[in-house]
Amino acid sequence: MAAADFSRLIAAAADTIAAHAEELTALDQAIGDGDHGLNMKRGFEAVRAEADTFVAKPLPEALKAVGTKLVMTVGGASGPLFGTLFMALGKDLPAAPDRNGLAAALGKAIEAVAARGKSQPGQKTMLDVLQPVYEALAQGKTASEIADAADQAAEATVPMKALRGRASFLGERSIGHMDAGARSTALLVRAVAETVEDI
Ligand code: ADP
Ligand code: MG
Repeated sequence: MAAADFSRLIAAAADTIAAHAEELTALDQAIGDGDHGLNMKRGFEAVRAEADTFVAKPLPEALKAVGTKLVMTVGGASGPLFGTLFMALGKDLPAAPDRNGLAAALGKAIEAVAARGKSQPGQKTMLDVLQPVYEALAQGKTASEIADAADQAAEATVPMKALRGRASFLGERSIGHMDAGARSTALLVRAVAETVEDI
């Protein structure tokens, strides 16, 4: 991937997180501690600030560096999990990936997140968006179909009962609210999909 394109991806990701930070905070206030918007904004602004350093690296190294930066800056439960996602993507992605290479790397990265979080899809977390996105990608869906699948998957966390993360402390009371990490994941997926479609 050209440095300019990776740079656009970083900007698109940081922009959508900044634009939706209050919404993410409100979601996390309902069934968590209300820090998810700020956590994500801090992390993605830190990535944006060092974008020039990252984009100078080959794609796998750049993704690993982004993941490391997210681990250091996002904080909370989600920081190490998003960090793991990007680091694992960097580990498994070829320098010039095609769709199959990307799907395979995402599949492995999701396994790494699940291992790190001791979690799996169905527990009202970011994995409930990541897994359907992986499936849509592997099935050859278009970028906009993948973005729509991510939004629907985030919506689908509303009736779920949280079994991992802070929201799980609420038990049944976590039902009826969208998971904040599922929403931030869907936002990132749409930003990436729309940017890639345009490259
Ligand atoms: P914290 O819960 O520490 O306040 P954040 O608010 O930044 O951290 O992130 C919360 C989000 O992290 C949740 O909405 C959920 O999507 C995700 N999450 C939390 N724990 C796990 C886990 N064990 N596995 C997968 N995702 C998780
Ligand atoms: Mg929180």
